[in-house]
Amino acid sequence: MNLRLIFCLLFLTHSLFGQEPSHKRIARHIEKLASDRMKGRGTGSPENAKAADYIASHFKKYGLKPLGTNGFYQSFTAKVRRVVVPDSLRSASNVIGFLDNEAPNTIVIGAHYDHLGEGRQGSSLEKEPEGKIHNGADDNASGVAGLLELAQYFAKNDVKEPYNVLFMAFGAEELGLQGSRYFLNNPTLPLDKLNFMVCMDMIGRYNPERGVGIGGYGTSDTWPAVFKDVTSSVKFFTDRAGNGGSDNAAFYAKQIPVLFFHTGGHPDYHKPTDDTEKIDVVAEEAILKLEIVLLEKAMQQPKMTFTPVQ
Ligand SMILES: [Zn+2]
Repeated sequence: MNLRLIFCLLFLTHSLFGQEPSHKRIARHIEKLASDRMKGRGTGSPENAKAADYIASHFKKYGLKPLGTNGFYQSFTAKVRRVVVPDSLRSASNVIGFLDNEAPNTIVIGAHYDHLGEGRQGSSLEKEPEGKIHNGADDNASGVAGLLELAQYFAKNDVKEPYNVLFMAFGAEELGLQGSRYFLNNPTLPLDKLNFMVCMDMIGRYNPERGVGIGGYGTSDTWPAVFKDVTSSVKFFTDRAGNGGSDNAAFYAKQIPVLFFHTGGHPDYHKPTDDTEKIDVVAEEAILKLEIVLLEKAMQQPKMTFTPVQ
């Protein structure tokens, strides 16, 4: 093989596969977001705002168009309701980036980036949570890492998909889906142009016995055609319901078809021990590759019709 051919092949390989999800980048994102320095990304904290900045800076790097109300940010006031605290009103933001493929309709890929901070906003399962950093590596630094990897992939793959893609990192999910609900009540693009929404919340603790759960299979009659003949190196199963678990429930309530990716519960859920070293980033990479296959197949289909799940 001559040298020119080798260079040519190297270039091709790089441009075709260079932007595929990578477990090394996934690990870097999770280490950053779930480190003790981020103090659990509690709503209203400076560290929560730092996490939002981290996401926005990556959206910018990938060349996404800001689609918040202040650049990439859509700010709102979140309310702590589950515990009584003097600072129950807290500033929060969604981070919103748009991949404009000049298509008539748009798909949404979302993940929440907030977590429980230092245990002073309710819903911790620790006995005495106050003052303990709830790192939230699985919940939901894993989902944010997935969001960033998918944003990079679709922005850099040199393919103009038949739909636009709205990438959303939601704030204040842990306070009751407040970020996704705020967006849906104050949308920055017309909701009737949304085709479907894909949510990732806790995709870092793959259990080969259980497999990856994919909820929302019953929310459109189109999903069976999308899943047909799809295989993956990770085990997965579908579940018809789309109205529980995370921000997908807010989209479901607006009659938008959804998919919800989740690797299942574990003893560290909503405890200070939900830490980075317990994340299976290699499995997460495989889950994201499965998502890409499903998303690319779904984007070959006409705009979906919503089906309520009984
Ligand atoms: Zn979560």
